[in-house]
Amino acid sequence: MTLLLEDVTLTYPDGEGRLTALDSVSLEVPAGRLTAVVGPSGSGKSSLLAVAATLVTPDRGRVVVAGTETGTLDAAGRAALRRERVGIVFQQPNLLGSLTAAEQLQVMAHLSGARPKAVRERALALLDAVGLADLAGRRPHQLSGGQRQRVNIARALMNEPSVLLVDEPTSALDHERGAEVVALLATLTRERGTATVLVTHDYTHLACVDGTVLVQDGRVTERTPAS
Ligand code: ADP
Ligand code: MG
Repeated sequence: MTLLLEDVTLTYPDGEGRLTALDSVSLEVPAGRLTAVVGPSGSGKSSLLAVAATLVTPDRGRVVVAGTETGTLDAAGRAALRRERVGIVFQQPNLLGSLTAAEQLQVMAHLSGARPKAVRERALALLDAVGLADLAGRRPHQLSGGQRQRVNIARALMNEPSVLLVDEPTSALDHERGAEVVALLATLTRERGTATVLVTHDYTHLACVDGTVLVQDGRVTERTPAS
């Protein structure tokens, strides 16, 4: 299993006590599958992604990313695992204002020691894969919201991650653009074999996902297909 969460419980400090953000959550995502995590605001969706990304360590439970038991890793080991195996698309496309679309991707490979020409070629191929072949030289302010989100997704794929985690990519888009972004994620997942988790509160985009997990109050209350 490329991504596995088993009985994960996560609490945050909350005044005198603790707030339970995730309560015994389990999730399995094989390579090449797109799982949607849906649920109301505050239900724990972003917390689930943060745990899967090893950005947050749960109080209890197992998190396996690309075959690695993350519980045995120190902070440096988790950072290396994230860099090499995990692609993250945050809710806000945090693109750098002064860089072109291609450069946003190229900076991802900055530390990897790859040849600049190969990095540039990979960036252009990924922009092509997300439908932005002609816009590689544009800066963020010259792109629409949907195009920026595509750059964001292409950037997350730069290091060929095994696990792709995407938080509410459609929240700033109209319905049609949102549906296109979800369809693109489904295609990329199958082509590149990533285990992809898509967090959304929009239930209407789910025609092309492989499975859906409903989260309410930090608990998984429904799954399709059932397991
Ligand atoms: P969602 O993404 O579904 O809106 P979150 O995972 O962001 O939900 O939040 C789940 C719960 O945890 C909410 O009650 C939220 O207020 C709380 N929470 C999220 N992040 C933190 C944090 N860093 N510190 C304290 N509480 C948090
Ligand atoms: Mg959230």
